[in-house]
Amino acid sequence: MTITAALAGNPNAGKTTMFNSMTGAKQRVGNYPGVTVEKREGTVTVNDNPMNIVDLPGTYSLTAYSPEELVARDFLIKERPHIVMNVLDATSLERNLYLAVQLMELGIPTILALNMMDAVKKQGKEIDRKKLSELLNVPVIETIARSGKGKKELLNEAYNYAKEKDGAWEPLHISYGSDLDEAIDEMTEFIVESGLLKNQCPARWVAIKFLEEDEQIIDLAMENGVGNKLTEISDKVSKHCYDTFKTYPEALIADYRYGYIASVVKQGVIKSNTPENRIEFSDKIDKVLTHRFAGPVLMLAILYSMFYLTFSLGEIPMGWLESFFEWFAVTIGNILPDGLVKSLIVDGIIGGVGGVLGFVPLIIVMFSMITFLEDSGYMARMAYMLDRVMRTFGLHGSSVMPFIVSGGIPGGCAVPGVMAARTLRSEKEKLATILTAPFMSCGAKVPVVILLAAAFFDNSAIVMFWTTLGGWVAAFIVARILRSTIIRGEATPFVMELPPYRMPTLLGVFIHTWERAWQYIKKAGTVILAISVIIWAAMTFPGLPQDDIKSFEDQRVTLKLSYQGKILDEKILEINNLENQAALRYSIAGKIGSSFEPLTKLAGFDWRTNIALLGGFAAKEVIVSSLGTSYAIGEVDAEESSGLSMKLKNDPSWNKFTAIALLIFVLLYAPCFVTVVVMAKEASWKWALFSIVFNTTFAFTISASVYQIGTKFLM
Ligand code: GDP
Ligand code: MG
Repeated sequence: MTITAALAGNPNAGKTTMFNSMTGAKQRVGNYPGVTVEKREGTVTVNDNPMNIVDLPGTYSLTAYSPEELVARDFLIKERPHIVMNVLDATSLERNLYLAVQLMELGIPTILALNMMDAVKKQGKEIDRKKLSELLNVPVIETIARSGKGKKELLNEAYNYAKEKDGAWEPLHISYGSDLDEAIDEMTEFIVESGLLKNQCPARWVAIKFLEEDEQIIDLAMENGVGNKLTEISDKVSKHCYDTFKTYPEALIADYRYGYIASVVKQGVIKSNTPENRIEFSDKIDKVLTHRFAGPVLMLAILYSMFYLTFSLGEIPMGWLESFFEWFAVTIGNILPDGLVKSLIVDGIIGGVGGVLGFVPLIIVMFSMITFLEDSGYMARMAYMLDRVMRTFGLHGSSVMPFIVSGGIPGGCAVPGVMAARTLRSEKEKLATILTAPFMSCGAKVPVVILLAAAFFDNSAIVMFWTTLGGWVAAFIVARILRSTIIRGEATPFVMELPPYRMPTLLGVFIHTWERAWQYIKKAGTVILAISVIIWAAMTFPGLPQDDIKSFEDQRVTLKLSYQGKILDEKILEINNLENQAALRYSIAGKIGSSFEPLTKLAGFDWRTNIALLGGFAAKEVIVSSLGTSYAIGEVDAEESSGLSMKLKNDPSWNKFTAIALLIFVLLYAPCFVTVVVMAKEASWKWALFSIVFNTTFAFTISASVYQIGTKFLM
């Protein structure tokens, strides 16, 4: 087989020098069809086999900005050479890697020739080529084209690698931030459907080029007919980027690519013996923020102040909203006649949805801070700093993003979190990430924490902080266990996008925050509303049997005969409460909750908590609201109702350890239903079911142990 190899690289990287040295006099010079770009071809013999070598025009990118770039790209896509030898001017490695990364994104088998190593040495620098090769997962050879050094090795490696890859393209997946990634995914689907450039280049790559405003790709898409759909998505995300970052996708894409390169180079790839005098602004900040010791300390300080601010700023409007819903429930309750309709509206709908909406102010404050961290570029640095820790537990630096999105900083959601694990390149690390991300404190668990903290602890911020940490610790421990048992395997090197720091715009933070808050509100108005009604129904029906109702009625009649005035009212209220309790216990939900009680008592959960936890499997938001509903149903005088947290605090069956056990259980038990479905889609149903069973068992074991030890020895 004759292997065709292309020499690619930035202008002046030394391609032609290398080409001449390889081919000697055996060259053919011509033009690329239709353009005045010179085409040089030649033949060499490697391992007794002829190898065809093409010297591509010098390019900085693979986007059709210039005829040279278009020619080089067309050659790669249409001729599909077996291998690309990317010649880099190693004296400016980062800039030269920009093209390398694009070749890797295209997926074509690529090996890197670090050229001008003589000049690198003169500068007093060393390049750790092994490390570079490991991080980028491609072969890297050092060369000096002018003297021919490394030429043989380069040819041999090209030959072997081409054989090994055997024409298979494996595109590198770079994450371009949540906004662009979402648009890219959406566009990719349309591109796959339309068959645009099918069998020529990866659909995702086409989507990225479209966002980079590549004219040729746009024209092709228009001819194909998918262009309008793509333009629509691209215009929308462009506007969004401009609104939030004051910049366009093209520039953002470049930032993330350089960020990816920066994270490679940062890891000790370049060793310099002479002091660096030109340091970029971002690097200067990074010297402090990602400092080996100061970095993690600052990170914890930043996170803690975030919790502190969230609670101190969010508490006030949250109080207003809570009072509003209470007032609303009482007012409606007074207008409507007693009966099922009133119960449905007051207990089911206002209690359920109001309970969830009450947290909106807090969530807005928290989201705005998370957005600030994310938009400023700091979030990516956290991932970078945590990589070493992640590795110890069999995870990967790229697992940090899925964790954070899932609620590693409280307020996330495991659904996009699990999806974010797509960027992990190793199947096993990806699986471990997917299975452990749901332990984080997602936005729906936050209200449970706030509720219990308000009822049983003095400082809500501290409880939130420890809960968050608990999610991480659980994820780490479980990941370690899984990676040493059922998903054992090698670790892969860490490379991640580290975009430059930028000051987020106020409007940008506002828009991103609102998007997230709106998701939350929308969910409260739809899914949560539906589940609240279902749970209300399960708590209301089938209603007490006639005999029991009559027996309560008889008791009331008896009371009326023997008491009067205030005492009578009190006695009646007591009977009413007992009746409501009995009805709740007799209901479908009550029966289910009660049947689990003998077991869950070990962790201090009574049948009412069980109802809430079962509801929580449908959506975690429901936990607080169905606790609210079950306590509201069990109580008659709405005007005297105090907040749910007060009720729990005064309930004799609750204590500090019940609260801690419940907190732990809610944090760790089965992911909500939607997350499970996404897990099945991203991994498999087997693993999704595994996580339901495993997480619940794991959570219960810990909760029960904590409760038992706590109540036996510490009270
Ligand atoms: P091209 O644009 O990639 O084809 O680059 P050329 O092959 O034309 O080389 C550009 C310049 O770099 C020429 O002056 C070469 O002599 C010089 N050059 C190429 N390789 C090396 C090398 O390994 N070391 C040094 N010091 N110079 C080199
Ligand atoms: Mg040249």
